[in-house]
This record gives sequence, structure tokens and C-alpha cells, in this order.
Amino acid sequence: MPVKVAVNGYGTIGKRVADAVAVQDDMEIVGVCKRNPTFEVQMALDRGLPFYTTDEEHRAAFAEKGLEVQGLLPQLLEQVDIVVDCTPGKVGATYIPTYEGHGVKAIFQGGEKAHTAPISFNSSANYKDAWGKDMVRVVSCNTTGLCRTLYPIFRDIGIEEVLAVLIRRAADPWDSKKGPINAIKPVLKLPTHHGPDLNTVLPDIPIQSMAVAVPTTIMHLHAIQVVLKRESSTEEVIDLWERSPRLRLVSGADGIVSTAQAMELAKDLDRSRADLFEIAVWRDGTHAEGNKLWYYQAVHQESDVVPENIDCIRSMMMLEEDPDKSIAKTDASLGIPPPRS
Ligand code: NAD
Repeated sequence: MPVKVAVNGYGTIGKRVADAVAVQDDMEIVGVCKRNPTFEVQMALDRGLPFYTTDEEHRAAFAEKGLEVQGLLPQLLEQVDIVVDCTPGKVGATYIPTYEGHGVKAIFQGGEKAHTAPISFNSSANYKDAWGKDMVRVVSCNTTGLCRTLYPIFRDIGIEEVLAVLIRRAADPWDSKKGPINAIKPVLKLPTHHGPDLNTVLPDIPIQSMAVAVPTTIMHLHAIQVVLKRESSTEEVIDLWERSPRLRLVSGADGIVSTAQAMELAKDLDRSRADLFEIAVWRDGTHAEGNKLWYYQAVHQESDVVPENIDCIRSMMMLEEDPDKSIAKTDASLGIPPPRS
């Protein structure tokens, strides 16, 4: 029997997670819940996705627009084994009593405080920690990006310390509330929360982070400096990443000189919503010398956490014990190429 999944919060992350669940053979999407009757609701209803809303007041708002929902969130929760909460940051935690009351497992997203769930999750780094758990948080898009490239280095070479500078998109592409924007905004509280967030998954990597927001809506760029435990080479690091999942080595020499071309590549991949689930790492923007390593990577903030949510469901529902097998299964379903063997 496929695991029954609900998604609460049908926005940037929620709609992608719902679509990703729908293409798995060991889980099914029973319904999604959204508070406001925006254009996405009609589109999802047209595709036959059962829709629920949060309360009677919002149900009336849906009805006013001629949108028929199946019911309210509690009715959806009664039918499922697990809910993926994709409500806006810090809203998810307010649903804990509701999820517990219905006896459903819950996955939260990176906008929630780390203590919202006992486990913070990344597929490669700590898949087994989520095994059978009731509540888990999939870390943010930025932290997922850091985990993807740092974990293989930590595991195979060793890390003395990391300094990560995050150059962050100011808003998501759809979000006109925060724009127009014309400024570069440093995060003044230093070091930023990104380092501690990585430590919720990989506690043994000493990391400091800084961040600035810039006037772009697609992708974050990370400039990362690592002090390794031993001497290495650019070739060794690249080889390690080529053998690691959900990384896409790109190259300025091939014309990918900025996030603009990285997203153009994503469009050419012809995936749903032009998503780039992989972290783009610049082959020719990576340099190792002695025990120092520098590199750049770009994170498609709207989609990189989607495959992790699928693996997280598999671990919490005890569907697949081997992380590599779950990752391979998820990636095959989403068209993500396997790492080099
Ligand atoms: P979003 O604003 O795009 O979508 C949130 C959805 O939840 C909207 O459809 C909204 O109508 C709905 N909603 C609002 N209040 C609700 C409520 N009380 N109950 C049910 N639904 C409600 O947000 P998002 O960008 O998808 O972010 C969701 C979570 O994912 C956050 O924790 C965020 O930090 C995290 N996240 C976001 C990104 C990103 O770049 N967008 C990346 C990784 C993780």
C-alpha cells in the first residue's frame, strides 16, 4: 500500500513537493491544503488534485470564487499517514498540536526554527536519523546546498573549518510584495544563522557564515572557503563531487558564467517549472591548494529541497533503509542524473 501523503501550504515549495510525491510508486498525494484562493488552486483542481482549506472563513472565500474544496484540513489529515508542512516560515510550528492530535507524522521546512522537530534532515548526510521518526525538519535551501558539497568532503577528506559567504536572492520570482528592489543588504547579525543551521545536520563541521541579499530573484550563490584536514587537490575534490548525488558540475568555459546561464541550463533540461534540483558547482571556480579549498556554488532555492522531502518521507515511513537507494529512486523519478559510479 502506498504511503498516504498530504501537503499543507501550497506555495513555492508545497506545489513542487505535491508534484514530486505524485510521481513516486511507494507514496500517493491524497490532497493539499491552502489558505488563500489564488490562481494556483484552479490550476490544481483542473489537474484533479483534491483541495482543502484551513477553516470555514477561508472556505467561504474559496466558494465566493466558485472554487470547490473537499473540506477542511482536519478532514484531510484523517486520511493520511504523513503531512508535509510547506506553510510560510514559523507558521508550521503552530500546526504541531493539530498534526499530533490527528496522529500523523509531519515534515517541516527550513523556515521553522531548528527545535520545531527533534531531527533536521539532509538525504546524504543523515537519512537514517529520520528513520521512523514522527517529526523532522528538512533544512533550508541554503543549508541543503551546503550539506550537498561539504558532506562528501567532510566524510572523505576531513574538514578543519569552513567560511561560507552566502549571496542571497532578495525574493522568490513570484513575490512582488518585496520589490522592486535596488540595494545590497548585508545581514548585520554575525556570524549568520546559516553555519549553526548546517550544524543541526552535521554537528562536527566547524563553520562560520556571512550573508548578503542582492536584487535578484533566482538562485543563491555561495562563496565557500574550506580548511581541509589534509592536503588535497582540485582534481580530488571534483572527483568526489562527481561521485556525489544531486550536484551538477558546471563550467564558465562552457558559457555558464553566472546564475543566469545556470537557470538557462535548467530551462533547457525541460523539467517541470524549469527546476534545478541539483546544486550547480563551478568546476573552473573550484581551487584546492595544500589544505585550502575555495569554490562557488549556486542554489535554485525553489526546488533543491524537493528531493530531500521525498527521501525524508521514505525514511520516516520506513519504506527504504538504504539512503543511496532512496536517493537513486527519487532522482530517477525526477529526472536527476545519477552520480558517476
Ligand atoms: P510560500 O509563501 O510560497 O507558500 C506558502 C503557502 O502556504 C501559500 O500557498 C499560502 O497560501 C499558504 N499558507 C499561508 N498560511 C497558511 C496557513 N496558516 N495554513 C495553511 N497554508 C497557509 O512559501 P514557501 O516559499 O513555499 O515556503 C514554505 C516553507 O519552505 C518555509 O518554511 C520556507 O522557509 C521554506 N523554504 C522556502 C524556500 C524558498 O526559497 N521559497 C526554499 C527552501 C525552504
